[in-house]
Amino acid sequence: MFVDAAGGCRPHGRDYGDRNDARVLSGIAAAVQSVSGVGPRILIAGGGFGGLYAALYLARSPDRPPGTRIVLLDRKNFFTFTPLLAEVASGSLGREHVTQPYRVYTAKHEFEFLQADIHVIEPQRKRLVTSIGQLSYDYLVLALGGEPRYFGMEEVERTALPYQSLRHALALRDRGVGLVEQFQHTSDKTRREAMMSFVIAGGGPAGSEVAGELQHLLCDVVPRYYDLDVVPRIVLVEGGEEILGQFDPRLAREGHRLLEERGVEIFVGVRVAGYESGSVVLSDGERIRADTLVWTVGVGPSRVVTRSDLPRANGGGVEVDEFLRVVGCPNIYAVGDCNHIVSNRLSATAAAGPIQKSRRSPSIRGCGRRATSRTTSSGAPSNATRRTTLARSSHWGPGKRWSRLSATAGPDGPPGGCTAWSIS
Ligand SMILES: Cc1cc2nc3c(=O)[nH]c(=O)nc-3n(C[C@H](O)[C@H](O)[C@H](O)COP(=O)(O)OP(=O)(O)OC[C@H]3O[C@@H](n4cnc5c(N)ncnc54)[C@H](O)[C@@H]3O)c2cc1C
Repeated sequence: MFVDAAGGCRPHGRDYGDRNDARVLSGIAAAVQSVSGVGPRILIAGGGFGGLYAALYLARSPDRPPGTRIVLLDRKNFFTFTPLLAEVASGSLGREHVTQPYRVYTAKHEFEFLQADIHVIEPQRKRLVTSIGQLSYDYLVLALGGEPRYFGMEEVERTALPYQSLRHALALRDRGVGLVEQFQHTSDKTRREAMMSFVIAGGGPAGSEVAGELQHLLCDVVPRYYDLDVVPRIVLVEGGEEILGQFDPRLAREGHRLLEERGVEIFVGVRVAGYESGSVVLSDGERIRADTLVWTVGVGPSRVVTRSDLPRANGGGVEVDEFLRVVGCPNIYAVGDCNHIVSNRLSATAAAGPIQKSRRSPSIRGCGRRATSRTTSSGAPSNATRRTTLARSSHWGPGKRWSRLSATAGPDGPPGGCTAWSIS
């Protein structure tokens, strides 16, 4: 019940020990409440890259005061390794390869986990309202990530498949395979065209990866089992001048070339402007009849944040100072995709969460360090972020299957970067 995912893959190459048996969750909330006055209680809201690494860091910290309780909260009971979600969408990997139960970590490290949906934060009362009751804290680390942004396009929001979580990746896989099944007994030409057209909005790493993986699923795997008399159309739409814009330009060009070589159509300099009568409408007026629109554009603030009385920068992320403290709330910190640093901004990448965590945690212990700027003068992510930003190359060339390229290349490095890890 509690250990929902089984993980064989340890993406960071660390041994976190054997998988822990499921523990009884009920009653832990009460236990957390009852320690009031014993030592500081740190709640970490959200167990993604920012939250999980914050928990691990604080749990390992030799400086934490005696009696400190660290409790990680998440609505699901497993960590998701988002960079590999595209492979789940194509069926190349299963859910067990990209998830790790939090219990694996709590078995080895001194923090607790509670599965709970957080509804709202009440900073004045120092408590969270959650699906398992109200939880009070002495310190709160907000790491709730972001939610897709649709820029007011309601029809797009209703139609598009978001692409942020394991659930979304599985839904996309099921949609693709389901459409192929329907296609077998559909004779209407217009319907057939829409069924086999897949538009991906956003040519960043997530969109580019999902385009490559869908192409692999629909053009390499599906024809082995189905008699498809058309070549599925996969269209990647990017509003900027080039896909993979946050990478070194040579790496971005290589990604573009590889995708096109595989048959992905790439439209740059246009945006998805709407979805009408079964067609994706582009900003230049072109319409693409497609049942499937995958949305990888824009990260907006979590609904919990918008519901709560917290300062936000231009209606976006939680406003934090250089120590990642929420402005006006000295005992709340915000890390990862849900924050907005007043003076500078990390890109929304997995690298940012752990980097920010290391800047924030010391100040919980009262010896804060500044969160330094990680953007270059041009506004592009610095190498600190680029180093761990990943692009998949599997299926894209001989000998590269299951391997990934990381954009370690700085301005003078090789355009291909080097292999970040290899699964088999
Ligand atoms: C498909 C995809 C691929 C990506 N690939 C890369 C990559 O290759 N390299 C890279 O650097 N970055 C990549 N990213 C970006 C990276 O995943 C994010 O920047 C990073 O996860 C942000 O960390 P976070 O802790 O802020 O939020 P998240 O990792 O999103 O974690 C937020 C957590 O909060 C939980 N949560 C949210 N709301 C609630 C609630 N109300 N109650 C309880 N729990 C809640 C969620 O379940 C989740 O576990 C990718 C993102 C996606 C979606």
